[in-house]
Amino acid sequence: MPSENNEHTMDSNLTDNAAPVAQAAPATADTALEDQSQSLAADLRAPTISRAYQCQCGRPVFLGNSQCLACNTPLGYVIDSLGVVPLAPAEHDGAEPDTFTVFGDTGGKAWRRCANFLTAAGCNWMVPAPRDGDDPTLHHTDGLSPGYCLSCSVTRTIPDLSIESNGILWRKLEQAKRRLISQLLALGLPVVSRLGDPVHGLAFDFLSNLPGGPHVLTGHEQGVITLNAEEAEDAVRERIRAEMREPYRTLVGHFRHEIGHYYWDLLVFPTPWIDDFRTLFGDERADYATALRTHYENGPPPDWANRFVTSYASSHPWEDWAETWAHYLHMADTADTAMSFGVDAQNVELASDLFEPADLWQPEHPDAMKFLDFLNGWVRLTNVLNELSRSMGQPDYYPFVLPRTAVGKLQFIHQVITQQRHHQSDAALAAQQDGMSQGEDPDVKPGDAAPAPVPPTSQTQTQGDGFQNQQERAIG
Ligand SMILES: [Zn+2]
Ligand SMILES: [Zn+2]
Ligand SMILES: [Zn+2]
Repeated sequence: MPSENNEHTMDSNLTDNAAPVAQAAPATADTALEDQSQSLAADLRAPTISRAYQCQCGRPVFLGNSQCLACNTPLGYVIDSLGVVPLAPAEHDGAEPDTFTVFGDTGGKAWRRCANFLTAAGCNWMVPAPRDGDDPTLHHTDGLSPGYCLSCSVTRTIPDLSIESNGILWRKLEQAKRRLISQLLALGLPVVSRLGDPVHGLAFDFLSNLPGGPHVLTGHEQGVITLNAEEAEDAVRERIRAEMREPYRTLVGHFRHEIGHYYWDLLVFPTPWIDDFRTLFGDERADYATALRTHYENGPPPDWANRFVTSYASSHPWEDWAETWAHYLHMADTADTAMSFGVDAQNVELASDLFEPADLWQPEHPDAMKFLDFLNGWVRLTNVLNELSRSMGQPDYYPFVLPRTAVGKLQFIHQVITQQRHHQSDAALAAQQDGMSQGEDPDVKPGDAAPAPVPPTSQTQTQGDGFQNQQERAIG
């Protein structure tokens, strides 16, 4: 994750009184995996869902696939399924030639490919294609830019594609963002585009440094996440990583960090969670610019490793939150993937101690022991993964040591997310009982409010709002 990143500097305006967005998510699979005995899988069970997908022919397929290499069946990411599924041409009366249904579900919802399927973004997500007479509330079209999927609809600015090399960077950025968004949906977190909610919605600006212009800062401000597109260039990102002495720096890590700031605005600051946040992370009203300047001038406190997941997390409570949040997303996605593929690391010699109930924030919480098992399963798993990396001469898969004080913060984040997921399930149920669902799945919409007719991706380098805030950038 982007620790010690002096480019995370657009965080100083997090005073938006966002209300949590009431919105339901697709059914998650946290009811699965109930009956497992002592195994890593049992310990790690499930913040979320399977990351292992299958073609109709039985062959395993992966998050980025759009066609089965074995049988040529078209594949696409379908939000209702929270995964990549095999597709078949739609067969209903009047079906357009480019529409699909999920394989084996001939009478089900119709989908078409995202408008970015054939662009450099290479998007394999599917867009709802309601049939005549369909109840529009059953389709996830709210907040989507016409023709674009949810992930592409939250992109507001892309690098200038008249510069040839930018296409490759844009593709890498979108790939990483699709992984992020698919995980957020699986966790039941609200994902609402700026089109769906102009105040609290999400927008991503992928910007390049322009000649003579200011250096583009990676950061978050009031729902707008900005990434400097050069971070998608391996050589550049690796150079920055080494210069900053970070153990880890990836696009996914950037996204997971910045989205943490977004959800703090949405789910913590305007809610009763704020009091516990301040107890665990500290008082975020401490001056942010001063805190960052101190961090870069003096370095982290000598004992930071005993208290924070990264040294950058020690700079300010907001950054501690964002770093720990990103850590939680790393752990959840990796654990989901490991479980999906049947990785077991039960018989592992541990280089570090396991965590104990006393390390938790709320050891008496009904969910606490399950969460502790998850953490300790994580410790075992990462011991194995690190050994595998060393076998190949690669840097450690997980180049961090979780301090005990981070465990309480992670449990707090786990509870914030779990509560949100339950809100979403309740909202879905209420909508269903309201008669909004007419015999179809009790599924729910990842968008929100009315769509605005604005295309997302025709931009060349317009530097819009979110770029004012450069006072803390600078150092190092
Ligand atoms: Zn940050
Ligand atoms: Zn196949
Ligand atoms: Zn798309």
